[in-house]
Amino acid sequence: MAAVRKKILIIEDEPQIVLGLSDALAFEGFIVASASTGREGVALAKTQRPNAIVLDLMLPDMNGFKVCEVLRQQDRLVPILMLTARSQEADKIRGLDAGADDYVTKPFSVGELIARLRAIFRRAERPASDGAPEVIHIGDALVNLSSHQVTRGKRSEQLSFYEVGVLRLLHERLGQPVSRDEILDKIWGLEASSSNRTVDNFIVKLRKKLERRPEKPEHILTVYGCGYKLAL
Ligand code: CA
Repeated sequence: MAAVRKKILIIEDEPQIVLGLSDALAFEGFIVASASTGREGVALAKTQRPNAIVLDLMLPDMNGFKVCEVLRQQDRLVPILMLTARSQEADKIRGLDAGADDYVTKPFSVGELIARLRAIFRRAERPASDGAPEVIHIGDALVNLSSHQVTRGKRSEQLSFYEVGVLRLLHERLGQPVSRDEILDKIWGLEASSSNRTVDNFIVKLRKKLERRPEKPEHILTVYGCGYKLAL
């Protein structure tokens, strides 16, 4: 059975980057759409329904963080990779807060970006019939890993693509510590040399959604010098 070709939307105003990335993605079998402004990108995301979005932070008409927020309002689940020319940690954290799932700092290698996209799609296509539960109870939260929904009492929240990935991995290894490097490798498909802060940022977001008192977690626990573990 032929695999369905995935569509990637690139939102970036630098023609060189758009061209290089489009060529490489098309060569790898992806369908590519591109927009050179934030507004055009938001409109295309709505009509084209891409499987993933590569979003540059620096756009001529709109701030990339704002674009990200609007994209996230339109589609809760689509993976968004943010391109940032800045290396400041604050920008990366702000990007993740705006709803981006990951970021790549310019100058980036096209190969690395494609590897990340491939890792995203591999995980998304993993069959649900591999015995893994789709609904798990964590404390007083009910987590549906298929619909990405967390329900606590009357409150319901959506988990992002990567948040579900992290949670799934911790649940597979219930009660055992999982290192940051392993989380980074399995969920983002990255070498351990990439920022471990990515993992920490996602743990903070998960705790806010799942824990009764996020500052005193009872379920997503820090294992000092290693990583994290899940206790139900
Ligand atoms: Ca730009």
